[in-house]
Amino acid sequence: MNINESNNSIDLRSDTVTRPTDAMWDAMRSAPLGDDVLGDEPSVQAFEEAVAAKVGKEAALFTPSGTMANQLAIRGACEAGDEIIAHRESHIIHYETGGPAALSGCMVAGLDGDAGMFAADAVHAAIRHRDIHAPRSRMLVVENTHNRGGGSVWSMERFRSVTDAAREHHLHVHVDGARFFNAATAAGYEPSEFAALTDTMSICFSKGLGAPVGSVLLGPRKFIDRSRRFRKMLGGGMRQSGILAAAGHYALDHHVARLAEDHANAVRLADGLAKIHGIDVDSPFDGLRTNIVFFRPDPAWGGAPAVAEQLSARGVKVLALDPDRIRAITHLDVDGADIDRAIEIVAGLAHPA
Ligand SMILES: *Cc1c(COP(=O)(O)O)cnc(C)c1O
Repeated sequence: MNINESNNSIDLRSDTVTRPTDAMWDAMRSAPLGDDVLGDEPSVQAFEEAVAAKVGKEAALFTPSGTMANQLAIRGACEAGDEIIAHRESHIIHYETGGPAALSGCMVAGLDGDAGMFAADAVHAAIRHRDIHAPRSRMLVVENTHNRGGGSVWSMERFRSVTDAAREHHLHVHVDGARFFNAATAAGYEPSEFAALTDTMSICFSKGLGAPVGSVLLGPRKFIDRSRRFRKMLGGGMRQSGILAAAGHYALDHHVARLAEDHANAVRLADGLAKIHGIDVDSPFDGLRTNIVFFRPDPAWGGAPAVAEQLSARGVKVLALDPDRIRAITHLDVDGADIDRAIEIVAGLAHPA
């Protein structure tokens, strides 16, 4: 536990808040460096190759953020006037500052469905008729795990059914896999088995994997080569970025297997919170809890933002992502004892001493 030693609070706002471990710092400090824009950054190249091999894709591109990786996928797959099909609660709609419209001139058709999931029928129904009036349906974006869906996991069967539908209509299939290794860990599939059904994928190393910065875009070499140009255009060409890639590479080698601990801690948190009178915990989709817990405090407590503020004052940081709903995320800088303390602090709100 090396986070927030300064204020001693338990930070469950996101799995992005982790600090590099000593071993990760060592990997960063000893990484051989070059200049990635000039094309000779050995640590970036080694990382890109390692991720591509792990996921079974031809090539990978290191990006400063998951948002950039997703937006590069859209920029590479679509033309202005095209339409993307995605769940209405998806990250590309809620949290990428209108990027699809601003950067690629695209519309997004939002699909309904529980926990960020939808069925093949919904994909078929969203396809536009080929007609001079209509935008062109061009891309399907699936988020796995689904953030606003409570860390929900796409099963192979469900994913295959929607990608089959997408193929019928010649859509580019992109997976926003910011927390893809959490999904693979929880569902028990091989990353490459799932990735084989996609054209492109993004994966964040700055989330549960514990790197300070960095994501990757994965796909066919031709697509990635073109994306490298768009990355430069967006200001994402980096120089001695091997320092950051080394952190991601360390995380790929050492922090994937331990994601199951975060999931166990999320179950512990959800179970503890569920026992508190006045707290409603969202159930995990398909019974698979990953590292995200959404809960709803009794409205009599003053709404989610007010509750989040009171918790922060007492030493637990969480995010009120909706007026009535709070999100807590477990990660490698919190352990079981922290979770137990967090539960006690929430219980203290319900039963003031
Ligand atoms: C965090 C996240 C991203 C990328 O976020 P960045 O902060 O830009 O790295 C993309 N998709 C999902 C589902 C996420 O949770």
